[in-house]
Amino acid sequence: MFQAFFFDMDGVLFDSMPNHILAWSETLARYGIPFTARDCYLNEGRTSRDVIMLLANRHHVPVSEEQLEVIYHEKTASYRRRGGGKPMKDIDLVLHFLEQRHVGIWVVTGGGQTDLYEQLEGFFPGIFHPEKMITAFDVKHGKPDPEPYLKAWERSRLDKSQCCVVENAPLGIKAGKAAGLFTIGVNTGALTREDLEQAGADIVFDNMAQLHQWLLAQP
Ligand code: CA
Repeated sequence: MFQAFFFDMDGVLFDSMPNHILAWSETLARYGIPFTARDCYLNEGRTSRDVIMLLANRHHVPVSEEQLEVIYHEKTASYRRRGGGKPMKDIDLVLHFLEQRHVGIWVVTGGGQTDLYEQLEGFFPGIFHPEKMITAFDVKHGKPDPEPYLKAWERSRLDKSQCCVVENAPLGIKAGKAAGLFTIGVNTGALTREDLEQAGADIVFDNMAQLHQWLLAQP
């Protein structure tokens, strides 16, 4: 059994992708930039500014540095207006199972909200701890760079073979594998199993209940 699990946040701990998709579509439409759910999942893990520039370039829409900041803030405000995310279905089964077995529970996210710990504590009381969180403030390079997962591994002081990544998106899976860690893909969104397998996931589950069943069967 692994001694630490490194959980991604959006689309893993929080069922937040539907509101991210709505917020992106609404905001980008005002600037004439098309956006699909698949765009959201395939680019998940990139910083918001990188997503804006990537899509703007793809659709030949010129965006100035100033506009980039405005679009970023409009998208963030739209997401917050929609109430953010709610806990992923059955993630509580997974977290409580690990907690009972004294397995380390970490969050490794590209998110940089200053109230992240309070959000986690509100939804999952007593499960997460500030010293087991890697956020945008802790790294120079976000996913798919391995830095966020390497930082979690270093802080855990465990062997790599004792650590496991849980991700829902291809770029996050690539980050976990590039860090040399066993990486589980849970397909909670609009992608196919093949998208997660091709990104390099060691195992792919369709939902958190399947991950929980797999954990129960581990020696
Ligand atoms: Ca994610």
